[in-house]
Amino acid sequence: MKFKEYDVIVVGAGFSGAVMAERFASQQNKKVLVLDKREHVAGNCYDKVDTNGVVVHQYGPHLFHTRHEDVWQYLSQFTDWHPYEHKVLAKIDGQLAPVPFNLNSLHAFYPKNKAEQLERLLISKYGENSKIPILDLKQTDEPRLQQLADFIYNKLFVNYTCKQWGCTPEEISPSVTARVPVVLNRDDRYFHDKYQAIPKNGYTALINNILSHPNITIATNVDAKDYIALEPDSKSVLVEGDVFNGLIVYTGMLDELFSYGKGELPYRSLQFQFEQHDVEFYQPATTVNYPNEENFTRITEFKHILSQQLPSTTIVKEFPQDYDKSDPNCNIPYYPVFNEQSQAAYHVYANEIEKYPKIIALGRLAQYKYFNMDDAVKNALDIFSSGSSND
Ligand code: FAD
Ligand code: UDP
Repeated sequence: MKFKEYDVIVVGAGFSGAVMAERFASQQNKKVLVLDKREHVAGNCYDKVDTNGVVVHQYGPHLFHTRHEDVWQYLSQFTDWHPYEHKVLAKIDGQLAPVPFNLNSLHAFYPKNKAEQLERLLISKYGENSKIPILDLKQTDEPRLQQLADFIYNKLFVNYTCKQWGCTPEEISPSVTARVPVVLNRDDRYFHDKYQAIPKNGYTALINNILSHPNITIATNVDAKDYIALEPDSKSVLVEGDVFNGLIVYTGMLDELFSYGKGELPYRSLQFQFEQHDVEFYQPATTVNYPNEENFTRITEFKHILSQQLPSTTIVKEFPQDYDKSDPNCNIPYYPVFNEQSQAAYHVYANEIEKYPKIIALGRLAQYKYFNMDDAVKNALDIFSSGSSND
């Protein structure tokens, strides 16, 4: 591969890398090489049709939603959309109820009179339509709301969070459980953003379209660490041993880029168990969460997403575990871990990478952030247009 022919090398062909590659190619007429160590583009959003004819998401269910007009307009250049609003149920004590926990969930678990009383109390204290993180609701001094908060915390949050993160809700950043607040209305949707839809031909096709610019070359099955190294003294980047004068957009793990010189950052990984079932539908919603009894956190049935009419179905169960780079069963770093200690450890690397003017550290891994897809796109668009592109 002739790296030196390119102005920009992008490591990682997920949303972050693809958007940045497209911007450099189309806005600055740069020649861009996009590398990914996987055999495909699209990063964790990769989807494909399985042997059942179902469009499945290989690295877990991905539902697009955004409130950002610029993100929606940008992506709409590269895809048509299938309208879709995600709904999630949780199985609690054998009963299915909406998540986020809302007024419908309240009425599912409490007798009518009690539910109506709690609803009045909640609305007079917090206001209709408000969204209350569970850790905030737990702080209430009203005893009946305290009992409700304990119920929601114990039945929906604590065991799910322990499975997902290996620790309690108090031991990770409150922003994690705040992603799924208690909602004081009857809107059963999981997300409340203005735009909610799935790329009509899938995420892989969308990313391929973003990358299909004559200035962009894609090389899959290429691990950047076999070719790219940091030169600590001169703060330059070596590509195949020579100083590279172009830009590197790096969307992998920062600790790996620095050969773990300042320790390993913690991540959570997942194992996915795909199952094909000879029934038309396996469950009544796309995703059913299992906070308590099971080892997995949730089951997703993909055919709901694109309303596929097929005689059989495909589901996936998610089993969280610690990331371990040497264990092929859990060597994909799906989630950075959000606590003070890991953030501090990340900042050591973030400070180091800032000393390298030719590298842009970008995306969920390199910025160690809980980016949704739209956050990743927005972040790449903003960084490009802010000129942090070092150009
Ligand atoms: P990634 O998609 O992780 O891409 C990084 C790429 O870099 C990967 O392809 C990797 O192979 C490559 N790479 C890393 N190191 C190297 C190297 N050394 N050499 C070459 N290539 C390398 N977001 C939503 O908006 N809605 C959802 O419903 C949703 N569900 C999710 C479910 C799960 C289980 C997970 C894990 C995430 C979910 N997300 C969801 C978040 C979404 O996956 C991310 O926002 C998005 O993938 C971030 O894109 P990225 O390009 O930053 O990272
Ligand atoms: N969560 C929970 N119970 C649920 C759903 C979510 O405890 O039924 C908590 C859990 O800590 C989870 C976090 O809320 O990790 C964020 O949930 P989200 O669905 O946003 O997670 P993701 O889809 O990113 O895995």
